[in-house]
Amino acid sequence: PLPSCECNSCYYGADCSQFSPDCPADADSGDPIFLEPFWMKHAESSAVMVAGWHRMAYKFGYEHGTFISKELERLLRELHATVGNANTTGKFMVFGAGSTQLLNAAIYALSPQDPPSPTRILGSIPFYPLYKSQTDLFNSKNFEWEGDTSMWKNTSLPSEYNSSVNFIEFVTSPDNPDAELKEPVLLKGPSVKTIFDHAYYWPHYTAIPAPANEDLMIFTLSKLTGHASSRFGWALIKDQEVYERFLNYMTLNSFGVSRDSQLRTLKLLKVVLGTGKELFEFGHRTTRTRWESLNKVLSASKRLSLQKLIPRYCKYFQNVTVPSPAYAWVKCEKEEDENCYEALLRDGGIIGRHGSNFHAENRYVRLSLIKSQDDFDWLLKRMTALVSQEQVRE
Ligand code: PMP
Repeated sequence: PLPSCECNSCYYGADCSQFSPDCPADADSGDPIFLEPFWMKHAESSAVMVAGWHRMAYKFGYEHGTFISKELERLLRELHATVGNANTTGKFMVFGAGSTQLLNAAIYALSPQDPPSPTRILGSIPFYPLYKSQTDLFNSKNFEWEGDTSMWKNTSLPSEYNSSVNFIEFVTSPDNPDAELKEPVLLKGPSVKTIFDHAYYWPHYTAIPAPANEDLMIFTLSKLTGHASSRFGWALIKDQEVYERFLNYMTLNSFGVSRDSQLRTLKLLKVVLGTGKELFEFGHRTTRTRWESLNKVLSASKRLSLQKLIPRYCKYFQNVTVPSPAYAWVKCEKEEDENCYEALLRDGGIIGRHGSNFHAENRYVRLSLIKSQDDFDWLLKRMTALVSQEQVRE
């Protein structure tokens, strides 16, 4: 007899090939699988084969103490120059196991050691939750989570604290979840440092109005090429002392980034650079089309709305581009729907991420627009059904 097949909840039948119409549309995770067709097209040129004897040592072929491939660093600088999304001139580069590792390395590198009181870390609601959870996890005497920036708007720091208190603000631009191009909220000053998380500052997700040129910027392969599994990110750092503290963190924390991962990244970037604008054109077309389709469906709803994004001039495409965000930040408009997911989306078979995950109200839910085409088509179908039910009830 054939071995019994354990189908996941969306499929049934002896060989799990039948799709169940009861399957929920899962728009929860931020996995950027929408780029998979590009990599299928370039399967051969992007493949990596590594012989068992190759690069076995801790430091083989890498500059002493930095753990980074100089050739990969060169390609990343070339890519930023080609896309025009970051100015790398005069900046040091550090690699991390995804940008996740670099976010905490950045806090470490920017926080004074043994301060009279811990450096206060802030983000602007809605913010990427890892900033807080990682800061809490390290439970350091040098830094601690402070909260939302809103109470510090237009305040000269330190106003109510004495000058020995330092602040670090996370600025996510474009933001996860709402895709806004964000600016710092805290006023500049000697006690204020900023970490710019530019995970989504690529032409697939936003217009690129100008190259970012901040003192500390963090990028990730996960959202550039879609290879979240490779766990590769990089930081651009202006200040040498901060750079050296980053290196110290990387040495003590993980002895640098996996050399296998650097090799794969190198191979992928060669394809990105060697195929002109193809990745970004494909990426932008996909996210833009998805955003437009979802907007069209939700424009007929009185209960659900989407964040408002405006077309902007994109230097990379040399054109005004319509919005193409990675996520829809859906809002339940009616007062009684204060838990948007439970009031509406759950019964409509749509799985999203609650607003409270981003320290915002649960009136909001984040839906991913960067999963596979099948995932998106199913989400659109479920959303269309939900909105038409609303009209039947009226
Ligand atoms: N920053 C932001 C804003 C993100 O959305 C993510 C991933 N979803 C990350 C950082 C971390 O990405 P990774 O560790 O895969 O580089």
